[in-house]
Amino acid sequence: MTNRRSFIRKSSLLLAASTFPLSSFMIPQKKEKLGVALVGLGYYSRDLLAPALQLTKHCELKGIVTGSPEKIPVWQEKYGIESRNIYNYDNMHEISNNDEIDVVYIVLPNALHKKYTLIAANAGKHVWCEKPMALSVKECQDMIDSCHKNNVQLTIGYRLQHEPVTQSIIKMSQSKPYGNIQSLYAEAGFHNSARNHEHWKLHKTLGGGAMMDMGVYPLNAVRYATGLEPLAVSAKIENSRPEILTADETTFFKLEFPDGITANCKTTFAENINKLKVDCERGWYQLKPMQSYRGVTGETSDGKKFTPFNGNQQANQMDDDSLAIMKNNSPLVPGEEGLRDVRVVEAIFESASKDGKRILI
Ligand code: NAD
Repeated sequence: MTNRRSFIRKSSLLLAASTFPLSSFMIPQKKEKLGVALVGLGYYSRDLLAPALQLTKHCELKGIVTGSPEKIPVWQEKYGIESRNIYNYDNMHEISNNDEIDVVYIVLPNALHKKYTLIAANAGKHVWCEKPMALSVKECQDMIDSCHKNNVQLTIGYRLQHEPVTQSIIKMSQSKPYGNIQSLYAEAGFHNSARNHEHWKLHKTLGGGAMMDMGVYPLNAVRYATGLEPLAVSAKIENSRPEILTADETTFFKLEFPDGITANCKTTFAENINKLKVDCERGWYQLKPMQSYRGVTGETSDGKKFTPFNGNQQANQMDDDSLAIMKNNSPLVPGEEGLRDVRVVEAIFESASKDGKRILI
């Protein structure tokens, strides 16, 4: 039984039972670093998260879950992962018996986020899940409920909310240095050459498409830059490669916020774009790029520059999320935040399917 529980829950259990005599050998040692298992060893795990986990102070790469046996020796060689900490998708639930793994990080195609979050939560492990959280509000709610029921944390991999320049933009929504915000423009996209026609990012049923992949950046940005939730949306989709892309290639969406604030947003797989601009009563500020791994930077209308953060964004995010678990604090980006974006994404797709009809959120 006890080996199903994270050390945090063991510690609190023992604290609660501290009136009873316990032999010292029964008291679990508090770990200095949480053990993380990456689920899905594609681009983001391989190129960003695993290297970042070599820099983290409060967590470390301990395990992997993969359906590709040929990747195992490569990862073992590179990161010294013990054979006992390697799982596939069929036996992943057995991670419940592994005290070396505290957190399971879901880095799979979006359509699989819910399924594997539930397996991890039911195994008693804290869950970090990549953005977008899932394909529907219903899926997101199921993930939140499952983690709640299993008493584990659920956080979404919105690395920018942990990033210092972005955090200064978030603070400006409250301090209003240029007066009230009037309108915003946000865009994120890249040229997806779509060479591999089978790749899940091109297909709607697997959670692909520009909106799901890149569109959550401008959407999340205009929400965090205003500190407000949108009330209505109208949207339009364009697709110049329908023979390859069964999901959206370019999506435009206009959000209406309280106090007459509007946000025009664009996301695409057809060109490289990356910007957030906030227009206020007495000036403006912008981030360009607003979501690059190599540094978010920007300027204000009166010539001030934002100094880029020179740390590793993913390490910064995972350390914040580890501390939240260790201290039993609420995470910065809980599942509820992922759900809020997915609720708007559903409205965007509904509007686009109805010729841009204004949809109340
Ligand atoms: P990827 O295609 O490179 O990797 C996906 C992995 O899932 C592959 O290893 C693949 O083998 C595996 N997989 C398991 N079951 C699969 C199935 N049924 N179909 C297809 N693949 C399957 O994708 P990625 O770019 O690494 O994206 C993974 C997740 O990470 C996505 O949710 C994506 O949105 C997110 N992501 C986040 C960021 C960020 O900055 N936060 C950046 C990139 C990707």
